Formats: sequence, C-alpha cells, structure tokens
Amino acid sequence: MPHDHDDHAHHLLPSDPELKLKALEQILLDKGLVQAEAIDEIIDSYAHKIGPHRGAELVARAWTDIAFKEQLFENTDAVITEMGFSGRQGEHVVIVENTPECHNLVVCTLCSCYPWPLLGIPPSWYKSDAYRSRAVSEPRTVLAEFGLELAEDVSVRVWDSTAEIRYLVLPMPPDEISGLSWQDAAQYVSRDAMIGTAIAAAPLPDKG
Ligand code: FE
Repeated sequence: MPHDHDDHAHHLLPSDPELKLKALEQILLDKGLVQAEAIDEIIDSYAHKIGPHRGAELVARAWTDIAFKEQLFENTDAVITEMGFSGRQGEHVVIVENTPECHNLVVCTLCSCYPWPLLGIPPSWYKSDAYRSRAVSEPRTVLAEFGLELAEDVSVRVWDSTAEIRYLVLPMPPDEISGLSWQDAAQYVSRDAMIGTAIAAAPLPDKG
C-alpha cells in the first residue's frame, strides 16, 4: 500500500527537536513566563550581534595596543562592559594569556559554562562528556586531536569555568599581524584560539 499521503504529512511536520522547542516555547508563552518579543530579541542577538568576533576584537586590541592590554588585565570586567560586551553568562571574565612557555585551555568539567557574550553559543564538542573529562585528564592528547601539537617544553594549564568565572584565552600574536590595525589583526583570532584548542593563525581562505 502506498504511503504517499502519510509521507507528505510527515514532511510538513518540523523535525523532532524543532517540535519539542516549539512546544516548550508555547507552554512558556501560555503561562506568561516569557514574552514573544523577548525570545525574538535573544534569538536576534545571538544570530547577528553576539559571537566570536567580539572576543576577537578584544584579543586584537590587546595585541595592537599595549595600554589597552594593561587595562584589560587590570580591570577586565570594566573594559568588557565599556565595550558593550558584558551580559548574561559573562558577568565575570578572566583572561588567561598564552606564552611561549605556557598554553591555556578552557573547559567546564561540570556542565558547559562559557563566556557567551564574548564567544556566542558554545560549540557542541565543548559540551560533550568526552571533552569535559579528557581536557583535564589528557589535555595534550585532546589538543593533538584538534591538530595542535605542542612542543614538549610548553606546559598546558587547564582552566575549569564555573557559573561565576568564565575564562577567555589570549592567544599569542602570530608574526603576520605586526603593523596591522586591530580590525585586520582580528581576522587571525578564531573562536577555538580563544578556548585554547587552536592557536591564532591566518584565516582559512573562503571555500567559495
Ligand atoms: Fe558549566
């Protein structure tokens, strides 16, 4: 017996997670716990305003302006607030600087704490059980799996984020950024470099 009709109906339905999300949203709206405009505003913020470009601006300014960098370390939260980059899930940020001797790596072993206002929505691997446990137990192996082979004499320091403190890695500036404006230097700062699973490097060419 053909199932054309059923198939058609099936295609009209949203996928399972989408359906659950819509049901949840409807319940919250019906109970008056959230307002539709507030949800739209949050979605718009994360889609268009909040993302790794904010963290990249912070890093690139620190690379290219020593006074800014000093301020950033002395008064991190105030500088971030002044730039308009503070907000939920990023009330207290600590910047950890990579050096030739020490590489920093950020994880949240308990759940998925992450500096949302500076990096946007965390990647799915950041929330995975494997990353959360192995980043602590075998950080060098994890970094190697991300394609980052550290020299033997470079130590790795792992920072466990909490609801109170969100860490952001200040990567080492690559040689190519010398003489660049912060706007151009920011192109070398990836999200992963600010988590510590990569180093700052030339952006990948567009794949068309
Ligand atoms: Fe967490």
